[in-house]
Amino acid sequence: MKNPGKTNVLEISKGLQKIRDLENLNIRLVKTNGSVEESLSELKKKDEIEIAEPNYARNPLLIPNDTYFGFQWGPHNTGQTLEIGNPLVQYTGSADADIDAPEAWDGESVLNSEVTVAVIDTGARLTHEDLSANIWANPEEIADNGLDDDSNGYIDDMRGWDFNDNDNNPNDAQFLVGSDDISGHGTFISGIIGGASGNGRGISGISSKNKIKVMPLRFDLYLSSELEAIDYAKNNGAKVINASFGSLYFSQLEKDAIDSFPGLFVAAAGNEGVDNDSTPQYPCSLSSSNIICVASSDQNDNLSSFSNYGASSVDIAAPGENIASIYNDADNSYVYGDGTSFASPFIASSAAMLWSKNPSYSVSEVKNKLISTGDNMKSCVEAGRISSGKRLNLKNLLDDSHILISSSVCTPAYRFYNPRNGDRLITTSESEKTKVLNMSDWKYEGIMFYANPSNEAGLIPTYRFYNPRNGDRLITTSESEKTKVLNMSDWKYEGIMFYANP
Ligand code: CA
Ligand code: CA
Ligand code: CA
Repeated sequence: MKNPGKTNVLEISKGLQKIRDLENLNIRLVKTNGSVEESLSELKKKDEIEIAEPNYARNPLLIPNDTYFGFQWGPHNTGQTLEIGNPLVQYTGSADADIDAPEAWDGESVLNSEVTVAVIDTGARLTHEDLSANIWANPEEIADNGLDDDSNGYIDDMRGWDFNDNDNNPNDAQFLVGSDDISGHGTFISGIIGGASGNGRGISGISSKNKIKVMPLRFDLYLSSELEAIDYAKNNGAKVINASFGSLYFSQLEKDAIDSFPGLFVAAAGNEGVDNDSTPQYPCSLSSSNIICVASSDQNDNLSSFSNYGASSVDIAAPGENIASIYNDADNSYVYGDGTSFASPFIASSAAMLWSKNPSYSVSEVKNKLISTGDNMKSCVEAGRISSGKRLNLKNLLDDSHILISSSVCTPAYRFYNPRNGDRLITTSESEKTKVLNMSDWKYEGIMFYANPSNEAGLIPTYRFYNPRNGDRLITTSESEKTKVLNMSDWKYEGIMFYANP
């Protein structure tokens, strides 16, 4: 309000009770006994009052009390520095290069339903203090009676199944690949998905209300046990499968099994730093419509150097480097890990979160929403290596009112050649490209590079000039050259073409 003065310049309206004057701010806090809307409209009529607003509710950002949450840059990146390895190496991130989990948790209703993510892997440490509460429990089975009470083909399967040892204990035990013991892989993944949130210890999984359950399906890394595990997930209510494994061998049986799974199949892109478009990685590269293939991003929203990519075969990126999760030991330890194996569970559990909120969504709705609501990767070049160009954003995913922004930060720059006079033309404009394609004297030379059509932090504008006398064109990012050319009478300024990374 304007000039409330030291005393009551403005008389209190009928039905309003003064709480306090904030004199330095020229604000008076008042309370109404009647309707807020009516009081507001009364107040707005008064000349003395510039602004009248209701007492809007403000939600706290939910930062869970888990001990190591501060190390979990994937859910919440504050630009924290992590110290990892021996000797310790420091890794500093960029604030907000994250999936916006606390912002998403603000709206995570207690009414959301539970959703199960099947993890086909090395098993999960069932007794870990930060995991056991969120391990799936078979509601129809009676423990240790030697009977298949729910007639699903598995006896006493209380908490998943072990398809490696063919028993009811999918605990994460020794798992030799050659001479390497890779046990712990599945426990780590399970922690990212279902680490107990808000219990004052360890890490937080992707649901602050612990609505996402992990169904551990231990397999032996061979196709036959993978098929059994997919079948189990399908028949026992999992909406999402996490598949953090892959190979170069195509299998029609694997594709058929995935096609028959009525949920989302989330697969890791692989860790060889190669292009999956030219070197397919299965199951990620299968054409099944319910597969989503996941690359790894780092603390600064760059693609991880080890991450496979693919402009058409890889769908989206998620945090997969310096990830804090659960260690497979009896001491309830925690550890950092790297790999697309650990990016995939961010997507799997986020898909589960969307289903928890909207149980009636179809698989394609969930997949499309995941892909379209992410944040743009930091680098235009790296965004061009992933079909969506995006990294997961859980807040946007769960926000019904989220407005979709452009599908990619990158736009192709086309080059043309004029053999008659040797001129070349570069453009990022689709309409100009179409026009020039129809001109008989210009020859299309293809996409030269990808450019950023909008101005973002750290980018600089690229200016284009035209010389009508000889048809020449000039592109520059130099401000001083721009000024010089602007003062030359024979050059015509055509505007900013795109933004470039200096
Ligand atoms: Ca059973
Ligand atoms: Ca039983
Ligand atoms: Ca915890």
